[in-house]
Amino acid sequence: MAANMTFDALKQAVQEGTVDTVLACIIDMQGRLMGKRFHARHFIDSAYDETHCCNYLLATDLEMYTVEGYASTSWSRGYGDYVMKPDLSTIRRLGWLEGTVMVLCDVQDHHTHADVPHSPRALLKGQVVRLKDMGFQAMMATELEFFLFEKSFDEIRKSGFRDLEPISAYNEDYHILATTKEEHVMRPVRNHLYAAGIPVENTKGEAEAGQEELNIRYAPAMLCADYHTIAKHAVKEIAWQKGHGVTFLPKWHKDRTGSSAHIHQSLWTLDGKPAFFDASDSLGMSALMKHYMAGLIKYAGDYTYFLAPYVNSYKRFQRGTFAPTRTVWSIDNRTAGFRLCGEGSKGVRVECRIGGSDLNPYLALAAQIAAGIRGIEEKLELAPPMTGDIYQAQKAKQIPRTLRDATETLRKSKMLREAFGDGVVEHYARAGEWEQEEFDRVVTDYELARGFERC
Ligand code: ADP
Repeated sequence: MAANMTFDALKQAVQEGTVDTVLACIIDMQGRLMGKRFHARHFIDSAYDETHCCNYLLATDLEMYTVEGYASTSWSRGYGDYVMKPDLSTIRRLGWLEGTVMVLCDVQDHHTHADVPHSPRALLKGQVVRLKDMGFQAMMATELEFFLFEKSFDEIRKSGFRDLEPISAYNEDYHILATTKEEHVMRPVRNHLYAAGIPVENTKGEAEAGQEELNIRYAPAMLCADYHTIAKHAVKEIAWQKGHGVTFLPKWHKDRTGSSAHIHQSLWTLDGKPAFFDASDSLGMSALMKHYMAGLIKYAGDYTYFLAPYVNSYKRFQRGTFAPTRTVWSIDNRTAGFRLCGEGSKGVRVECRIGGSDLNPYLALAAQIAAGIRGIEEKLELAPPMTGDIYQAQKAKQIPRTLRDATETLRKSKMLREAFGDGVVEHYARAGEWEQEEFDRVVTDYELARGFERC
């Protein structure tokens, strides 16, 4: 299942008057959809070929601030244009927005039309091509976790983000009764996404009051990232339509469980055989899978930034919360950074549990594939699995504990520099550094309450 509409079908729908709006979107550094709303007639007449956006869209922070220190664009370079090149294989009707379809766009240089190297879709495309040249395709799935709140985005913002009552009153992990009360949001989420060509498997309550999980069937890496991005966007829009706020912040309260985005992955041959499976191995793991996993583990520090890109991301990594703290693997054990799933079957795969709900899936998948490829190239040996409560495994390697550490480790990563290019690594290291600089400038409520009278 890919997109749900061909370009010809779109042209026909426009003639018939059932579509009047086309959203043309790029994916920004934060994994958000950014773009324009086209009158559908203008889109099918000319904009389908290309349109343009300011190149600051791949150099801003969440606030759209013009961050200094990027080589790709700046005030002194005049913040020119990028080409938005619609990928016509991604046209989807969005059932929750009347008369509207969406198309995802690649980001290209305005003059040469070459892919912009630090554009998230281009980065993932590059790693997919590397794998293809080796004879493989990565099949991936990301699990989306988030919290639904009683009040709307606007009410929550006007309360200074203090009026934060989750939509349910108790831990709703697998809870049918609690989630029945949320069906006015979650049922349209499932059904609209499914109708938009996104193969939703299920939604379920997660391990906290108001926490939800959305699962989508695994797919080739680029489709998986497209699905994740559109699904996250749909959740926000549909919750907003129903008068509720929703957050993908990994840790919105210190006493509440955080939200993750686990990444399931397996390699398949180009003719569709499960390259991670070997029936003769006790766990059904092929030598290729072991090298790939060893690469994921060895280079986990290098790519942690892409799994946890903000200061808040690191607040999720707490022992005893199902969020991992150590880069080891284990068999069906949710305390490790990497969990072996589907052992002994063609569905054998590894789930990376490190990523937070705030990750940009294109960057996260690209970085994981790059690490896996390096593991295969280096024929790395996979250490034996760990067992028991891995939070207690004092000797096991930890993931970087702060954004500062993760950014520095990214900057020094030879593996990622070789896979992505120096310019791309410098670009994202600057993004991480900026997030830290901004945070360091701010005086928090915590500091006031703790020190105002008593220090
Ligand atoms: P669990 O409940 O143990 O987390 P699920 O069966 O719900 O596992 O699967 C989790 C995710 O893994 C789903 O999105 C599913 O589509 C995906 N998945 C299943 N098989 C594979 C595979 N071979 N490679 C990658 N992802 C897979």
